[in-house]
Amino acid sequence: MTFENAKKQITNKPIKLAKFLKFSAPLERKFGRSATPCRRCGKTEGLINKYGLRYCRQCFREEAKKLGFKKYD
Ligand SMILES: [Zn+2]
Repeated sequence: MTFENAKKQITNKPIKLAKFLKFSAPLERKFGRSATPCRRCGKTEGLINKYGLRYCRQCFREEAKKLGFKKYD
């Protein structure tokens, strides 16, 4: 279960929600995989950082032509 889904389940329980936010919030990371997610969909797998793109490979495939890439397959 992700953090957001767990948070949604206890929105009607204010005390539990406060505790949950205090102790279970995800870490803000300065480096590592989850520090640089895809700028379009937020995935952390298959990321292309070359030329400062920061797209995952799936999003890059869809966006490449708009970005001006002529050869991308
Ligand atoms: Zn993506």
